[in-house]
Amino acid sequence: MISERVRHAREFCNLTQTALAELAGVAQSKISDIEGSRQPASPEDVTRIARATGFPVAFFQAGPLPDMPDGNFRRLKRGKVRVTRQVRAQARQIVELVQRAESVVQMPPVRLSPVRTAVDADDIEAVAAEFRDVAGVGQRDPIPNLTRGVERAGVVVAGLPNEIPDHYGFSAWPDFGLDGRPIIVFARDVPGDRQRWTIAHELGHLLLHSPLRDDEMTHETAEKEASRFAGALLLPREIAVEAMRPPLTLTTLAHVKATFGASIGTCAYRARDLDLITEQRFVSLRKQMTSRGWHRQEPVEVPHEQPLLIRKVLDLVGQGDSVSSRADSVRLPAFAYRALVAAN
Ligand SMILES: [Zn+2]
Repeated sequence: MISERVRHAREFCNLTQTALAELAGVAQSKISDIEGSRQPASPEDVTRIARATGFPVAFFQAGPLPDMPDGNFRRLKRGKVRVTRQVRAQARQIVELVQRAESVVQMPPVRLSPVRTAVDADDIEAVAAEFRDVAGVGQRDPIPNLTRGVERAGVVVAGLPNEIPDHYGFSAWPDFGLDGRPIIVFARDVPGDRQRWTIAHELGHLLLHSPLRDDEMTHETAEKEASRFAGALLLPREIAVEAMRPPLTLTTLAHVKATFGASIGTCAYRARDLDLITEQRFVSLRKQMTSRGWHRQEPVEVPHEQPLLIRKVLDLVGQGDSVSSRADSVRLPAFAYRALVAAN
């Protein structure tokens, strides 16, 4: 158990074995052996590793971690593996925190109904419409606070406490599938429309690519399906058709963005997916966006997403008068506790 937690703490802090060895004053080979369960960690080792990572000693003695599958990532190709591991470790830590809180905090039951078989574009539109019902959002309404709707369906949504270069988000069904509470985490330091797209896309993975799904698919197909879902959720077909009548211009797209909180680029893709514009028109719009520099920074600001559930958990479970005692009580490093509170 300790071996698993040593690796976890190291990945949570984005440290190599060598870096942890140096910080803790323990030989790198010993860190490697402890993580690989080839050698037990002495109380002295645990104290040193605790001091180096900031986790309280009690964290290392707390038994098995929640199971966390590889999950789904939204990251750029150049994203570093070490950051990917860190994001997964942080999501896993949030899952453990929420599991400990379930007896204290009233949390909504999980109300997602993942699909079991292969889906086509129309099925995905229907899955998105069904989710709107579950989340209590009208079929024609913009979703002003996407996170609230997703939380209402029992999903944990959390902003990550630190910068995660080239990564946007992660999602998974922890604890061997559908008995666990699903989780979505997202990068804090990006515009609101990108956060919304990430959360909608990851929700698509949870609904479309759960352990229940019985057919094989390529990574590329899964990504396409999740993105189709995100578009359908934020901009349902019926209102998309009305809002993006031809001739579709950048001005119209900017209005759609302001109303529905989906980026101008996303809206252009959605218009193409729904055959509202030709491929040629789509390419032309993309070119116009690039020449205005909108591929780097778009006009029209969309408010940032604001999770509530994780905030409640941190408030109700963290005990004590100081940050360090509250961090201790939720078994987090003080720096991570402080950052998590600030990010949510
Ligand atoms: Zn994805």
